Amino acid sequence: MKNSMISCVICGEKFVPSTPNAKYCSPECAETGQNARRREWEQRTGYLEKKRRQAQERRNAIKAAAQAEKDAAARQAAEERQRLGKERIEVAQNALIQSIERGEPLARMRVYPPNTLEYWEAYRDYDISYAESIGKRCYTTVNDIYVTDADFPNLMIISIRELGQIREDVRHV
Ligand SMILES: [Zn+2]
Repeated sequence: MKNSMISCVICGEKFVPSTPNAKYCSPECAETGQNARRREWEQRTGYLEKKRRQAQERRNAIKAAAQAEKDAAARQAAEERQRLGKERIEVAQNALIQSIERGEPLARMRVYPPNTLEYWEAYRDYDISYAESIGKRCYTTVNDIYVTDADFPNLMIISIRELGQIREDVRHV
């Protein structure tokens, strides 16, 4: 049966085929041949290009997910900052409201503008109580009106309107 020898399509070695379709002399040549066929098939069908595209799409998806996560974290941080800011403002407002309710003159002066009776009542209360706290008498004037004048708040409204100015002379003796 010498005439049944054929050449291996990979290495060219002569061998006796074990089946009618055998093309390779050894398992190694069979593997080489199968790899070559697979490569040929991959090129013909655009398999590698498809794989590359899929890998690229996967990378893009991962990048987009990471970016989305980063954006969400940044958004959350901004919301947290805003919440804390609001909370601080609320705390400060509540403190101010409580100070006003306790009748603290400086708090009242912060909420009333200087063209109101409330402002000048608070101003008088503050200045007189300050003078008392340091054991002195209060001779402070504003626009030459003594804060100790019983009509000080009213007179201040009138004098601001007439003079267009607020001139303080703080004096504790
Ligand atoms: Zn071979």
